[in-house]
Amino acid sequence: MRALQLTDAGVVEIREVPVPEIGPSDLLVRVGAAGICHSDLHLLHFPVKIREEPLTLGHEIAGTIEAVGSEVDGRHAGERGVIYLCWSCGVCRECISGNENVCLAAGRTAMPPCPGLGPDGGMAEYVRVPARSFVPIGELDFLQAAPIADAALTSYHAIRGAREQLQPGSTAVVIGVGGLGHVAVQILRATSAARIVAVDVGPEQLDLATRCGADLALESGPDSARQILDLTDGRGADAVFDFVGVDATARMSVEAVAPNGAYRMVGLGGGVPGVTAEPAGGPGWPWGASIRKSYGGTRRDLVDSIALAQAGLLTVAVERFDLDEGRTALDRLDAGTIRGRAVLVP
Ligand code: NAD
Ligand code: ZN
Repeated sequence: MRALQLTDAGVVEIREVPVPEIGPSDLLVRVGAAGICHSDLHLLHFPVKIREEPLTLGHEIAGTIEAVGSEVDGRHAGERGVIYLCWSCGVCRECISGNENVCLAAGRTAMPPCPGLGPDGGMAEYVRVPARSFVPIGELDFLQAAPIADAALTSYHAIRGAREQLQPGSTAVVIGVGGLGHVAVQILRATSAARIVAVDVGPEQLDLATRCGADLALESGPDSARQILDLTDGRGADAVFDFVGVDATARMSVEAVAPNGAYRMVGLGGGVPGVTAEPAGGPGWPWGASIRKSYGGTRRDLVDSIALAQAGLLTVAVERFDLDEGRTALDRLDAGTIRGRAVLVP
């Protein structure tokens, strides 16, 4: 089969590889679509080899069950679904509580095994997955379903974690209206009565934000926090979702969040350390505000996100590419010219 693989630091190529073999508790899934996340770019730009043998990328996977392992109950060939990306242990204290995204078996700061980031992923014709990771999607289109596995899951989780702040009359800020952010705007629209302010660097992203339901779209810059404070009579935003995570957006978030507000850091741009410190005369961190480093989501968050899409409340802006065009799609994402989500079809 064909697979888009990371073969060395900075090198991705389409390679001919064997169809994966499955174990007794696995499924073989024929990939219908695989989304490209900015995290794939972070991997690509990682200065050293991620894995000794080539790694098939892709953690946003939708497809059809092709074969079922000998010990798997309750799944059959032909079922359509998405792959829950936290391949957690399922038995630790956090997993038992439903928090599989912070599985303790992964260690204190690592994440549970995730397809395309450790085990081989879904940018291929077939993928091996643990049967527990398969979540049915009914008739949902694969191009729509694949980005739900991360772009929607992760956004939904961050937003659900700030529900106390998202009361009627509140203000929510979404920084970075890309693959995750444009979905986050729709989830906020569908699940809260908050006023939604979107922030991005370009007019096309701001236009997408407005089409997704943002009440206001602001160009990102040194003045953004001040604008958000002005919009909220100096109080600040009740929730700030940072889908970029560089120093500039972390600073903006800290400067714009309200007392008792929620700052949810999702972007992995490498910023943040020290940002909540209070330099003399600096912006400071308001009383009661909380910061959370948000990773992925729970299985329940995935099921809820699928339900939003099935109800027509969430539509991913998809740009479709053939698997063979994977490198081009990654370069386009890197250049900032993808609107919404790039999705590969094998
Ligand atoms: P993307 O490239 O599709 O979108 C990023 C958006 O941010 C773009 O629209 C870009 O124009 C905008 N942007 C860049 N710099 C900005 C700035 N200074 N101010 C405002 N906007 C700016 O990326 P994505 O796939 O949506 O991923 C976003 C981030 O989230 C990445 O860092 C990714 O690795 C991370 N991520 C984290 C998790 C998690 O579980 N924590 C999950 C998935 C993705
Ligand atoms: Zn991702």
